[in-house]
Amino acid sequence: MTGLLGQRAVVIGAGIGGLAMAGTLAKYFERVEVFERDRLASSPASRSGTPQDRHPHGLLAGGLQALGEIFPGFESDLAKAGAVAVRVARDIQYERPDFGVLPKRDFGLSLLCASRPLIELVLRRRAEAVANIALRPECRVTGIVPTTSGAAVDGIRFDAGSGHSEVLAADLVVDASGRGALTSTLYDALGWERPEVTEVGVDLSYATVVVPIPPNAPPDWKLVFTLPDPPFLALDAVLVPMEGGRWIITIAEHGATARLETWDAFLEASRSLTTPTIYNALRYAQPPDGIRHYRFPASYWKHFERLPRLPRGVLPVADALCRFNPIYGQGMSAAGQQARLLQDVLGRAAAEPDPIAASQAGFMAEVASVLETPWSMSTSADLAFPGTRGERPENFAEAQQFEAAVFRAVIADPVVHRAMTEVFQLLQPHRRLREPDIVRRIEAVPAKAAA
Ligand SMILES: Cc1cc2nc3c(=O)[nH]c(=O)nc-3n(C[C@H](O)[C@H](O)[C@H](O)COP(=O)(O)OP(=O)(O)OC[C@H]3O[C@@H](n4cnc5c(N)ncnc54)[C@H](O)[C@@H]3O)c2cc1C
Repeated sequence: MTGLLGQRAVVIGAGIGGLAMAGTLAKYFERVEVFERDRLASSPASRSGTPQDRHPHGLLAGGLQALGEIFPGFESDLAKAGAVAVRVARDIQYERPDFGVLPKRDFGLSLLCASRPLIELVLRRRAEAVANIALRPECRVTGIVPTTSGAAVDGIRFDAGSGHSEVLAADLVVDASGRGALTSTLYDALGWERPEVTEVGVDLSYATVVVPIPPNAPPDWKLVFTLPDPPFLALDAVLVPMEGGRWIITIAEHGATARLETWDAFLEASRSLTTPTIYNALRYAQPPDGIRHYRFPASYWKHFERLPRLPRGVLPVADALCRFNPIYGQGMSAAGQQARLLQDVLGRAAAEPDPIAASQAGFMAEVASVLETPWSMSTSADLAFPGTRGERPENFAEAQQFEAAVFRAVIADPVVHRAMTEVFQLLQPHRRLREPDIVRRIEAVPAKAAA
């Protein structure tokens, strides 16, 4: 351990963001304590603190890479635990209403598909194996404690189940609690103005089933992503393989008013998708045990990065900072990439006179570079629905036309296909598609080639 920044860092929440951050912090603090309100089981299990874990959780190649840099060996652990390897583009049936099925090309990139509880368990085991990380399950944090002077924090207040509040001092408190409510309460208690929030209201209604992969599963794909057709059809669907020879399938409706309550209703909805791929895959599948539901009202980005400073010693991260529409599968990957950013920032901050304040400022100065690509891709797809709440960017129409041109070129040109794939997998920033070598190739494909 080099360049120690402090005695103790506390992380609130042992979800993907919290565990990834703990891995980073352990290199710079003598001790890292991760507080989690839930009991943490020793086998993959759904938890009440993460109700989303009963739905598909795709880990993009950029997220897998970041988590593997924080916890070397994570990827092989996940594969050994039963995750299914999927070759990006070659094994993915990516279906758009305007351009049909994208070509199956092999770019040498792989994903690992598993249930969210398994991904989290494998990550947690890696964190537990780090000598100076301690997990504190069944410990609910009830407050971030400000100093008497008010511009900094002393630590946290928590309840370990006894009903009595205890206080723990910390040099840095990382809020990875999902909603970031404790950071908001801290701002209110200090009388500081909360950050501006950009919100994109999607009112997405998830219906999810898990079925055994049938023996007659099509051999030409492992994962399906069927896009909606705004404004005519508001149904997205994803089918993802996972451990135990199962598929997990979600049909998500934008602006839904009713839920899919039965298997028959689910199958019927799968028939109304823009292609019959998922219906054909499911029609002879064994019926699932039940339908799982989740309602996602809005994506948000809390712009802490626009504030002149944070209270010294607190850092909101992952979903507490920015929550993406889950259908695009970006949240865990963006959390892993934020943890990797924090690693770079802590390394530099060690030389500063106030390394804690320098870490906070450094993280906030650069976090937009991690969030912008997933945020712009997911919100621009959502804003194509007339019912989506939120401000359309000034160049929205141009961006839509550019995206159509990109997809035309993706079909014709493997170089553009690779670039687009790397951007979608969060391995490259979105601006990669605007670089001259790619723009030249996009412009070389005439609009009529779309027909
Ligand atoms: C329906 C749905 C599907 C999704 N699908 C995908 C996907 O396909 N791919 C993807 O990358 N992402 C997906 N996501 C997003 C993903 O779940 C999150 O972005 C990711 O887990 C990072 O979140 P986090 O660590 O900030 O919060 P979480 O994973 O939600 O973890 C927060 C943790 O904090 C704990 N906690 C909360 N309050 C306290 C407290 N006071 N004291 C102690 N502990 C506390 C909670 O119990 C929980 O364990 C999906 C989300 C939803 C809603």
